[in-house]
Amino acid sequence: MKHDLYEDQEVERLDREALKALQLLRLKKTVSTALSTPFYKKRLKDTGITSAKDIHTLEDIRKIPYTTKDDLREAYPYGLLSVELDEVVRMHASSGTTGTPTVIYHTQADLDNWTNLTVRSLKATGCHKGDVFQNMMTYGLFTGGIGLHYGAEKLGMLVIPASSGNTKRQFQLMKDFKTTTIHATPSYMLHLYSRMEELGYSLKDFNLKRALIGAEPHSEEVRQKIEDLFQIDAYNSYGLSEMNGPSVAFECTEKKGMHIWEDAYYVETIDRNSLEPVADGTEGELVLTILVRTGTPILRYRTKDLTTVMPEPCSCGRTSRRITRIKGRTDDMLIINGVNVFPSQIEEVIMKMPEIGNNYLIKVKKEGTLDRLTIHTEVGAELFTDDARDLYSLKSRIKEEVKALITINPAVELHEPGFLPVQLGKAIRVEDERGQVY
Ligand code: ADP
Ligand code: ZN
Repeated sequence: MKHDLYEDQEVERLDREALKALQLLRLKKTVSTALSTPFYKKRLKDTGITSAKDIHTLEDIRKIPYTTKDDLREAYPYGLLSVELDEVVRMHASSGTTGTPTVIYHTQADLDNWTNLTVRSLKATGCHKGDVFQNMMTYGLFTGGIGLHYGAEKLGMLVIPASSGNTKRQFQLMKDFKTTTIHATPSYMLHLYSRMEELGYSLKDFNLKRALIGAEPHSEEVRQKIEDLFQIDAYNSYGLSEMNGPSVAFECTEKKGMHIWEDAYYVETIDRNSLEPVADGTEGELVLTILVRTGTPILRYRTKDLTTVMPEPCSCGRTSRRITRIKGRTDDMLIINGVNVFPSQIEEVIMKMPEIGNNYLIKVKKEGTLDRLTIHTEVGAELFTDDARDLYSLKSRIKEEVKALITINPAVELHEPGFLPVQLGKAIRVEDERGQVY
């Protein structure tokens, strides 16, 4: 291998051997950087890894212990900083969905690398110079908004940094500036659609071509729904602040799984109980090592996200492996009367039904000794007539299909549009009233 500076086109099409050689080179650098942080100096003490020279093959990564979110909290605020403080130019923090946020520092070179990855991600979905990019993800410490901003500019798109919320203004901007590409959470896309008519707009007012949807788990059925409602293409986008943010993995125009940019992220999937690696094609917890960041190196990060690595080549020609859509975080798993259930499984069932509206909420509580699952979902206003038969039959269908999939008999409550709380950031899909029961 000649060097580690490939052109984007080239790096996305490297054969596996060349890619692995590049990964090894970058892993060695990353280990060396990590050893300069107080956290990893201590963590790697008993592993026999004292310098990059102790990493001979990619498999040697297995000698390194996993890093968890709690570790990052422990290292707060500077334990993972590997350069002088005046070398870093930006910090970000996770949205804190599951507890205290964690902090990541970026040098200018780190930001440039991240921007390049976002350019590649945007290109993979067909975005190009001349597109108008309305960024409806929240700007701020959360990486969702700012994360794609610089890449979109570098690609030559006209960026509208709208941030999240203010639905009325979003429509106005979409219309006046002929937005072609929206970046938003899938739940916000559905909310947007549900307000369109009432705010006096119709699809004819817009020039939409695609939406990039991410930051929260969603089913294929929700993607389909967004595509059908807006008559656009919707692409799944995955990232987490510990690994920069958006652009860890992105769908290409084939829409069959998300390409992980393997030249920047070393991918492993593990069994979440034994913590042993699982083979490609088997579902496991995603473990990632960032290979191109010097401000805050992170080795073997347990994302808690469940997915399956797809080793088959993609017809788009990119050689990086893909991952299937994220089923959820291991923390999201509900145990209902002893049965393991992911909210995404319930979403799959209900969102297949055309009568179902754009919002739902799953509630779980104790009734005596048993757990009770109730699915609340909005349905079209036209179903609320004097004749309750349609509602009744829809309820029965939901019950039957959910039972068939997860073996649990749910209660179902149907509501008029707008009844359930609006989801602006990451959607909250579950209210578990049982407290810490698992
Ligand atoms: P927090 O962990 O506090 O929510 P982040 O903002 O970094 O902070 O969120 C990253 C997490 O969001 C991921 O680990 C994953 O659980 C979820 N996520 C991001 N993108 C997707 C996606 N496309 N599909 C499913 N889940 C996603
Ligand atoms: Zn592809």
